[in-house]
Amino acid sequence: MDYRDAFRAALDKVRGEGRYRVFADLKRRRGAFPRATWTRPDGSTQDVVVWCSNDYLGQGQNPVVLEAMHRALEEAGAGSGGTRNISGTTRYHVELELELADLHRKEAALLFTSGYVSNEATLSTLYKILPGLIVFSDAFNHNSMISGIRSGAKEQRRVFRHNDLEHLEELLREAPADAPKLVAFESVYSMDGDIADIRGTVALAKKYGAMTYIDEVHAVGMYGPRGAGVAERDGVMGEIDIVEGTLGKAFGVMGGYIAADAVIVDAIRSYADGFIFTTSLPPALAAGAAASIRWLKAHDEVRQAHQARAAELKVRLAKAGLPVMPSASHIVPVRVGDPVHCKMISDILLVDHGIYVQPINYPTVPKGTERLRFTPSPAHTDGMMDALVAAMEALWVHCNVARVGGMAA
Ligand code: PLP
Repeated sequence: MDYRDAFRAALDKVRGEGRYRVFADLKRRRGAFPRATWTRPDGSTQDVVVWCSNDYLGQGQNPVVLEAMHRALEEAGAGSGGTRNISGTTRYHVELELELADLHRKEAALLFTSGYVSNEATLSTLYKILPGLIVFSDAFNHNSMISGIRSGAKEQRRVFRHNDLEHLEELLREAPADAPKLVAFESVYSMDGDIADIRGTVALAKKYGAMTYIDEVHAVGMYGPRGAGVAERDGVMGEIDIVEGTLGKAFGVMGGYIAADAVIVDAIRSYADGFIFTTSLPPALAAGAAASIRWLKAHDEVRQAHQARAAELKVRLAKAGLPVMPSASHIVPVRVGDPVHCKMISDILLVDHGIYVQPINYPTVPKGTERLRFTPSPAHTDGMMDALVAAMEALWVHCNVARVGGMAA
């Protein structure tokens, strides 16, 4: 048997559906965010403006963060040397966990190597600690949450329609009253840019004796007076049992974490395979993340500027008749509705206009809702926005994609 045939067939399938992924080879230029250098497939290079980075605030370039990372590298060397248990707990990890606990005003925090791992490891471990646990999961939850939740038996999982509290209540009401329960949801949903009703969700969870688990990956650093997320902004952070976040997006570095009561954190630390059996983050990453969190806590003006830039882009795109999808957050999605068009527009933007925004196709979003997803940062200037909107207008006509008002099909 030629196993390679199966791999070729799998690739042909994604190609046939127009969703074969080609990565852009970019080199970000320190001090010039959001500009980068793109290396074309033939090896030549071109300057581009990146419009889809999840380094939402440009913290990956903040001199304060870089300085902390350089210092840790000089002081401690490259790697951590092992798992947290086997010499991989350093002063930098301990300080970062204290910083995170303080950010979320929780008793403790626990670091993981990514946001993905923190979701998968924590959610799967909760089934071990709470026998018979039933998890109520928002239909649009991220793959990492689903992966953790799927480790439970089928009868231990209920999916409620996205942001639909009536449906959530229906499912909570149907579940055995004495079963342990957890409601797992996100604050900012990153593909549509909508925001959960955290207060309403928490109230329902309390009514039915359920714990709450919130993924604030696309909110930490950016919402709330100190950047702890939407739960902080909405004044309900203290009501949430487990907050999960990333250090890889607005904090500009890498890693993931949970923050909760000390007893919860200690139990996850003691049982979660995805925490126990893997080398901890390098000290330089931990030091950079701690510096970034500390800095953002004290710089609310960056959050204000970020929101203002996102609002400005939404207005400009809408004025040009482009189909901006409704978004209550900093994320600006523009619907294309077809994977081939979506990829074509993204390619032309890159090659002809030096604008990088990747196509978002199935399975990241449902078929027929393919889109471009813009993430303007405080560093995206008016001039950059002018260039983007002009290029998009021209391309929409060129590609004959539907505009607001249904001009073309
Ligand atoms: N949760 C959500 C909602 C995400 O969008 C992502 C990543 O895109 C993650 C978790 C994973 O975070 P990380 O990139 O730190 O692994």
